[in-house]
Amino acid sequence: MQAGSGARAGVRALRGERGATAVASSFSRIAFLASGATEHKAAAIILGAPFDGTTSFQPGTRFGPNKIREASIGLETYSPALDRSLEHVAICDLGDLELPFGDVPEALEMIEGALRQVLAGGAFAVLLGGEHLVTLPAVRACQSVYRDLAVVQFDAHADLREEYLGQEDSHATVMRRAGEVVGPDSVFQVGIRSGTREEFAFGRARSGAFVQDVLEGARTVAERLGDRPVYLTVDIDVVDPAFAPGTGTPEPGGCTSAELLEALAELVDLNVVAMDVVEVNPMVDVGFTTSILAAKVVREGILMYEKQAR
Ligand code: MN
Ligand code: MN
Repeated sequence: MQAGSGARAGVRALRGERGATAVASSFSRIAFLASGATEHKAAAIILGAPFDGTTSFQPGTRFGPNKIREASIGLETYSPALDRSLEHVAICDLGDLELPFGDVPEALEMIEGALRQVLAGGAFAVLLGGEHLVTLPAVRACQSVYRDLAVVQFDAHADLREEYLGQEDSHATVMRRAGEVVGPDSVFQVGIRSGTREEFAFGRARSGAFVQDVLEGARTVAERLGDRPVYLTVDIDVVDPAFAPGTGTPEPGGCTSAELLEALAELVDLNVVAMDVVEVNPMVDVGFTTSILAAKVVREGILMYEKQAR
């Protein structure tokens, strides 16, 4: 069951925490650009988490991973900005986890189990969301491998609520929960321009960084993190809705797509061990605008942070 030039296995068993088996497969067989490597030879592994179970405003991020894959085909493998090409990286796209509807804890456990398996093989992991809550199990998986883990978040929203609509685990609480895993001062927040007064007070007092301007924020983070292992989470709504309209909770006043890419390049010397791109919602996108930006963030991320690409 090969996907064009891609070597995705089509159906893959991934074992979750409670022994639940997640089958990574997709409705379609689109694979990310240049992802022709087998899993055991891959330096970078892409995995989709099509989850939007706690989305409060406009659902549809479950369709994000495949739309990002589809959009990626429109990109070149070569990055002129980096003078590096995906063709020199062994990339494997495992497809999407088949997550249960209506069972948030089970879905999160499956994501965590799958990420643990990917990280155990030593590959650079790229998770495609899904809503932002998928970052929480990914951070847990990373923290179990890298004890001194820091989390760098690009986002319009602080996501620091203690709870949201009665739920402790939500896209609106995900960074508060991540801070409970790695320590609040190991969460570095960039691009933040929306949240409650309480979230802003918490972020300013407790986060490792809490900066609205993406370039300034990225430079601050790069200075502070040194060689610590980093989990990078990119909520696409950090970008202004003019450039990334396809997202569930758009927030005006953000950076351009060029500024996001420039800011991510400031992190090139950090020890980024895994990354995600979340909150892409094709249901409210304008053409491929937002998914192709997400695909480019993934391409540049692999080329910058995966060691073999250098
Ligand atoms: Mn978010
Ligand atoms: Mn957001």
